[in-house]
Amino acid sequence: MDSLSVIVPCYNEEAVIETTYRRLKSVLTALDRETHIIFINDGSDDRTLEILTAIAADDKTVKVLSFSRNFGHQAAVTAGIHNCLTDLAIIIDADLQDPPELIPDILSCREREKANVVYCVRRSRAGESRLKLWTARKFYRFLNRLSEVDFPVDTGDFRLIDSRVMEQFKRFKERGKYIRGLISWVGFRQVPFYYARDARQAGITKYPFKRMFSFAATALFYFSKKPLLIAVGLGFTAVLIGIICALWYIFGKIFGYTHAESGWTSIMIGMIFFGGVQLLTIGVLGQYIGILFDEIKERPEYIIEKEIN
Ligand code: UDP
Ligand code: MG
Repeated sequence: MDSLSVIVPCYNEEAVIETTYRRLKSVLTALDRETHIIFINDGSDDRTLEILTAIAADDKTVKVLSFSRNFGHQAAVTAGIHNCLTDLAIIIDADLQDPPELIPDILSCREREKANVVYCVRRSRAGESRLKLWTARKFYRFLNRLSEVDFPVDTGDFRLIDSRVMEQFKRFKERGKYIRGLISWVGFRQVPFYYARDARQAGITKYPFKRMFSFAATALFYFSKKPLLIAVGLGFTAVLIGIICALWYIFGKIFGYTHAESGWTSIMIGMIFFGGVQLLTIGVLGQYIGILFDEIKERPEYIIEKEIN
């Protein structure tokens, strides 16, 4: 039987982490195979590390990686994959939104389908705001239209990956990681697994709107060059409008149907509109330059301060 690790990123999850461990453990002990849990403490400033330390003292199959500060959800999952030594890994949230009780079904789905990746698709999501549901739904579809890769929609990082995929994942050098996208990008045989997502059991979301926005921006700018193409398209459109206007005014002057001195409104509209288009396209360009700037420094993605077991 293939050995399994469960990767759990944790940021200020003191309210729920103990329950998460207990529910995971009872599922894992019922499995007839070697299992481990890797908790990544992503620079929590509450009692998360303390609780995890106590758990790891009693249970040697629990590994804890503690970051020197908060590096973000994707960095935490990355560290989990980098430190995974088993044949299989399942990535799961610490807040029990993804029910651990599904793990046996996910494993049998993998065996049945001979899959390298089983990605869990949210058929429903309990306890999320309407705004989050709507933005997530729209965003995944929007991203799909812009990106060069075809991503499955309505999936998070909750998924099973095998050692082949992990091996390839370890080759990714980019620091800005959009993990669900990268795993799709790897290829091999990937199959969906449909489930109903629960509400967070305790604590609050660590993805306020601002973070969600920057997460979405990473996904978009790391997986698509189309925004640059759209900028080019805007430029062409502006030039076309410019030529039409020029012809209109030149002929107007010759045939006397325009009055140059009454052109204030059109000048203002043109200035504001094309000023906006220019700033927007410079902004898009700036995003890519910013990413180059970040990536070229080759700073480590995360720093592990402490490792238990
Ligand atoms: N998380 C993390 N570092 C962060 C933010 C979140 O490790 O900087 C973890 C968090 O503890 C949880 C998972 O990532 O296990 C998903 O976060 P959350 O449940 O708050 O996001 P939501 O489900 O609300 O989108
Ligand atoms: Mg959650």
